Amino acid sequence: MKNIYGCTLEDLEKYFIQIGSRKFHALQLFSWLYEKRIEDYSMITNIKKEVLDSLSKEYSIARLQIVDVQEDTDVCKYLFELEDKEHIEAVLMRHDYGNSICISSQVGCNMGCKFCESGRRKKVRNLETYEMVLQLLMIEKLLGERISHVVVMGIGEPFDNYDNLIRFFEIINHPKGLAIGARHITVSTCGLVPKILEFSTFPLQINLAISLHAPNNEVRDRIMPINKAYPLEVLIPAIKTYLERTNRRVTFEYILLKDINDSDECALELSHLVKDINCYINLIPYNETNNLDFMRTNTVQIMRFYDILKKNNINVTIRKEFGGKISAACGQLRSKKEEL
Ligand code: SAH
Repeated sequence: MKNIYGCTLEDLEKYFIQIGSRKFHALQLFSWLYEKRIEDYSMITNIKKEVLDSLSKEYSIARLQIVDVQEDTDVCKYLFELEDKEHIEAVLMRHDYGNSICISSQVGCNMGCKFCESGRRKKVRNLETYEMVLQLLMIEKLLGERISHVVVMGIGEPFDNYDNLIRFFEIINHPKGLAIGARHITVSTCGLVPKILEFSTFPLQINLAISLHAPNNEVRDRIMPINKAYPLEVLIPAIKTYLERTNRRVTFEYILLKDINDSDECALELSHLVKDINCYINLIPYNETNNLDFMRTNTVQIMRFYDILKKNNINVTIRKEFGGKISAACGQLRSKKEEL
């Protein structure tokens, strides 16, 4: 059975028309689901019982299970169990500007980035739209507070699950849905070029982040297999096309890995690579894991790297760190649970 939290407003309108009922029930239902947050169709008072009966035969209103919660001062991590007993994670971060949540888009990941914990387990399947929506809805409920910002940077490659991702955006952005402003939503990709181009025509002004992590093909090939399919001379023009079409700005994520991509030369080369691109660079201190061989760049070198970019007039920030104590790096909680 399909799940109601995977339906966009248009899907529901089509459904009500198709069963010979009224289109406006779609908006009423959205309001029950996302404004009043009911968990049972029987609480709906303005749609006839026969209509609700057929709805409940077609769409389940079941939620997911939260099987583990780990809390630290300004971060909280949730482990979800899906209907097929697979596990995914979401992380809540408290910023001074509001609560932001990092959600997963797939069970496992096929991109194989060498430094990333999530990629140690191959993709089992894409998340359905409702499984993405429910990460948000259920955490808001548990927290008793609004979530104002969403980043799709958890387990998985979101652009490898493009259609479900787009529907997720449509639901959470809709004023009668979760009403999260497009500019408060960010999606991160390792660089799937055809999808970057497709995304450049998507009407909502959602932020795009690119996991760059290297200033040249030689380094990028070593740590990110996707670079073989879409090397920098293909990726960078695609990003420029995206910028031309959307008039926006991109964020480049750059994890600093000791002795791999963190030298002064790398910083200079990176400055040249992005100098005529409207972008921010977000330097990410590497979150070390037990299973992998990569090490974090020390703070002194992080600052040198930062200074070189600054001197070259690049917009650069260093990512605030959350949750080192609670395995908050991408995929770590799930790995522990499944003892991979
Ligand atoms: N697949 C997408 C989104 C998920 S990963 C992408 O590649 O962008 C989200 C970000 O976390 C990526 O930039 C990824 O490279 C980074 N990341 C993965 N493992 C990390 C670790 N151990 N420490 C710091 N950042 C990490």
